[in-house]
Amino acid sequence: MTMTHVKRAFKYRFYPTDAQAAELSRTFGCVRKVYNMALQARSEAWTLRRERVNYNATSAMLTGWKRTGELSYLSEVSSVPLQQALRHLQGAFANFWQKRAKYPTFKSRKKSRRSAEYTSSAFRFRDGRLTLAKMDRPLDIVWSRPLPRGAAPSTVTVSQDSAGRWFVSLLCEDRPSMPAPVNTAVGIDAGITSLVTLSTGERITNPRYGRKDRERLARAQRELSRKTEGSANRDKARLKVARVHARIADRHRDFLHKLTTRLVRENQTVVIEDLTVRNMLGNRTLARAIGDASWTEMRSMLEYKAQWYGRDLVTVDRWFPSSKLCSACGVIAARMPLNVRAWECACGARHDRDVNAARNILAAGLAVAACGDGVRPQRSTPGGQSSVKQETSRPQRSRAAAQPRG
Ligand SMILES: [Zn+2]
Repeated sequence: MTMTHVKRAFKYRFYPTDAQAAELSRTFGCVRKVYNMALQARSEAWTLRRERVNYNATSAMLTGWKRTGELSYLSEVSSVPLQQALRHLQGAFANFWQKRAKYPTFKSRKKSRRSAEYTSSAFRFRDGRLTLAKMDRPLDIVWSRPLPRGAAPSTVTVSQDSAGRWFVSLLCEDRPSMPAPVNTAVGIDAGITSLVTLSTGERITNPRYGRKDRERLARAQRELSRKTEGSANRDKARLKVARVHARIADRHRDFLHKLTTRLVRENQTVVIEDLTVRNMLGNRTLARAIGDASWTEMRSMLEYKAQWYGRDLVTVDRWFPSSKLCSACGVIAARMPLNVRAWECACGARHDRDVNAARNILAAGLAVAACGDGVRPQRSTPGGQSSVKQETSRPQRSRAAAQPRG
């Protein structure tokens, strides 16, 4: 089995000095300006003269713009983020021509993401200290989780969110050190009453901060609704709402990170049900539970962490009757309404609904893993090439139909 090389982004908060914040704000403004001017030039060339302008041509334009008095301020910031903006624009046009995206749009001061991308010539990374071009001291980064040992970022993206918080994302080629293989396997049932239930019988509930934060959010939203449109106080109230939202999301993600890391480290095989959220949204109580549970996010974390740690993530078909099947004797119960939390099979086995489901999911997953010509299921590396993993959920393993065994 070959080692997988995956490019992965590690995102951290940082606290800029006043000078750094000013430099970055200036850079964000220049990035937006350059992107918009290049887009304008490309659009004009196409609509007026049917000419396609490529990246090199826009790069030459940028050199020209910097020489004009009016735009000379563009040469005060690092040139790399400006070049990167032109590369992104090139990518946006490539996607448009290949019918994968709509025509590129202008970046607006208010709505567009404030970000700047630095490639290796425009930053220095040494001993865990990151210094960007045009800056004389490293960024004050909160290393909330360690960068893999020996990892060196190839690209660094600085951004500021709508709540005014600063983030730096480091894109690293990751050569993970594999933890020792283990023998254990676990089945996971995506929950209704709890976040997930494991085949071991353990239930994991959502962290309790939920309600408190929701109250805080409701209060901030009430305050916002009372402020007059366009007032400075309204902007302040909006920022407060954004901050509460951001804090809730951060804590929840942190919780999911810890949980998924634990599940993947402790088990060689993790079996989940291919339970699409869409499939469950018909039921309102479920919709709420699933929304809270962030099952989609959890699944995507399991996917990339399994790949990362050399573990197997197996999905079983979502039509597999995990709740109705007795994990002791294999008989399928006739009906199993959602409100039935515990049941007794004709064979005498008493089941907690979720634990029984998790056990069935595990058994089905192991059956799938075992019948693939005696080898473990294929790893989820597309083509074995290095690829950028993003936090989106994409099924990476073919759906395995599992037949319950008598
Ligand atoms: Zn039974």
